Amino acid sequence: MWARKRIDIGWFDLLCVKGWTVFPWGQKNSQSMLETMWSANADALACLSVRSGFDLLLGQLQLPQGSEVLMSAVTIQDMARIIEHHGLVPVPVDLDPATMAPVPEELERAITPQTKVILIAHLFGGIIDFTPYTEIAAMHDLILIEDCAQAFDGDQYKGHPQSDVVMFSFGPIKTATALGGGILTVHDRNLLFQMRAKQSDYPVQKRIGYLKRACTYTLLKLIGSYYAFGMLVKICKFLGRDYETLLNGVVRNFPADEFFDALRQQPCTPLCLLMCRRINKFSLLRQDRRIEAGRLLNKKLSPYFHCPSGRLIRHTYWVLPIEVDHDSDIATRLRENGFDAATASQLRPVSPPETRPDQIPQQAIDCLSRVIYLPLYPEIPDFELIRMADLMIENQSDS
Ligand SMILES: *Cc1c(COP(=O)(O)O)cnc(C)c1O
Repeated sequence: MWARKRIDIGWFDLLCVKGWTVFPWGQKNSQSMLETMWSANADALACLSVRSGFDLLLGQLQLPQGSEVLMSAVTIQDMARIIEHHGLVPVPVDLDPATMAPVPEELERAITPQTKVILIAHLFGGIIDFTPYTEIAAMHDLILIEDCAQAFDGDQYKGHPQSDVVMFSFGPIKTATALGGGILTVHDRNLLFQMRAKQSDYPVQKRIGYLKRACTYTLLKLIGSYYAFGMLVKICKFLGRDYETLLNGVVRNFPADEFFDALRQQPCTPLCLLMCRRINKFSLLRQDRRIEAGRLLNKKLSPYFHCPSGRLIRHTYWVLPIEVDHDSDIATRLRENGFDAATASQLRPVSPPETRPDQIPQQAIDCLSRVIYLPLYPEIPDFELIRMADLMIENQSDS
């Protein structure tokens, strides 16, 4: 069975983490090495995760309480939680399903005197045109934050030069993962200085915890192979356990209680070293193969299904979401035929404050409620991709 997702990391990367944690010698300045490697302009800051960096950023911006953050209507739930924790108000702007980006005119219309920040995410691996947002931010004197957590593309895209802050994630399910970690580029020197100073007061992430994580993901990588995953699904069925719940429990990376304490740590040296390695050795070949596979599926399926973000010209196909009818059993049919399509993800629609019911992001809500994610990674051969697409099309015309 083709698992829904394979963590994007090599066996040797995992081995390196173990080596670096057990033999900690000769690893000075790994964080500044990483930051210089990422950007030659001395504007990068390595963090424990994007969420850690975002929390650090909001803490240092010192915005008036009740200021509004206009944001893409879909993101992981924690982002809105962090905004609220700082006394700010998340205000979603609905997305155009073709690109999963806010329509610039709608974004502009949603600006009020309370608006201080714009936070736009590139979703599903697509890379949206950021220029219209930079113009709006400049015109209204707003801080523009670009969330590239799902859009890592090596050296090909490092954020728009006019964005005030750009965030890339190396979290466990992201492209070129380092099992954690995030890098922010912050263009305001003063702000970056303050963030760096604040972060240096944080405790350093425990190496042993990171080592444990490397061991967990070694196991998950083993389980993610075609035959092992099929076995796992069968065993779970036999034991009457739900494998989705089981896997989700294993990959949860910050505890729900003590959430902010868990976020507020400095990345440990082995994490910085692995981020360096992943960036340095990023394989365009693997990425190209994934893009090719994504294009093939998108092209075959688009006459029959809507693929959110599928209209974008630049796309890394981090995932391939497809909208299906609510009563459709396509996901079940795919699973019966060896494709573990996922019906849920960590992405959620953002709720507007009660005072702004006009900002309810209806298109984003509808889209997320219908979406399934197809397995997509370089190892799946074309003939299997085509079989998957044909299964979907067949099932669509049945209903
Ligand atoms: C994964 C993700 C994040 C958070 O990244 P972490 O490094 O895990 O904190 C933020 N925004 C989006 C859109 C994401 O997909």
